[in-house]
Amino acid sequence: VIEIRDLHKSYGPLEVLKGVSVTARRGQVISLIGSSGSGKSTLLRCCNLLEDSQAGEILFEGEAVKWQGAGLARRPADRAQVTRFRTNLSMVFQQFNLWSHMSILQNVMEAPLTVLGRPVAEVEPLARELLAKVGIGDKAEAWPAQLSGGQQQRAAIARALCMRPEALLFDEPTSALDPELQQEVVKVIKDLAAEHRTMILVTHDMRLAADVSDHVIFLHQGKIEEEGPPEALFGAPKSERLKQFLSATL
Ligand code: ATP
Ligand code: MG
Repeated sequence: VIEIRDLHKSYGPLEVLKGVSVTARRGQVISLIGSSGSGKSTLLRCCNLLEDSQAGEILFEGEAVKWQGAGLARRPADRAQVTRFRTNLSMVFQQFNLWSHMSILQNVMEAPLTVLGRPVAEVEPLARELLAKVGIGDKAEAWPAQLSGGQQQRAAIARALCMRPEALLFDEPTSALDPELQQEVVKVIKDLAAEHRTMILVTHDMRLAADVSDHVIFLHQGKIEEEGPPEALFGAPKSERLKQFLSATL
């Protein structure tokens, strides 16, 4: 579904991604782990074109992003294509980013109504169904501020799903939550993995990564230091850096 080939990304003089390749096939869950500043969020944001990149290819369903310009001036050339990528690769952030002036239901319905132009009669039943699926069906009429962090994050997941995306991109979805609230979000992510949703998950939660992933990628200073199935990465890490990282986090 998603393929990244030899991606390079700099912020001014700082090279943050130094040739990274990632493939997420349909139904696969890929986890990105690595220490702070290794480029995990940047890579995720490049996937759905929230960030520009200077070299390398990004493909969705075999369709490569069309670029104009080169190097630091490289930009996507086709706006309709950018919209197609964004709507098919829905992102869930660490800070849920719900609109505080809209009810939970309105939050979930907003993008399908405005970006995709779908009718309320179609979107509202789906939104209510998704809220029920993530366990907050009774909160549709509430305001974001009236929900706990775990409930807000589950609303944000329902909002991402309401776009009917091909894949979900999670950037540390549990990091802003207290441990007991993390579990409700972990459960939703595990349910989605069990449904064989395509997902790329950036997480500091090694147990979650081990439980849900088909493939784990350890990023170090903008490069893939080691990757493989979770049993291999967590059970028999080869790289010294990965060993150090795991002993520091577990
Ligand atoms: P964390 O675990 O702390 O979230 P990360 O692996 O997600 O870290 P990134 O956020 O991708 O790391 O950042 C990678 C590098 O890029 C860091 O050195 C960071 O300071 C830098 N960086 C990120 N965003 C910007 C930006 N908008 N402008 C300049 N530098 C940035
Ligand atoms: Mg990050």
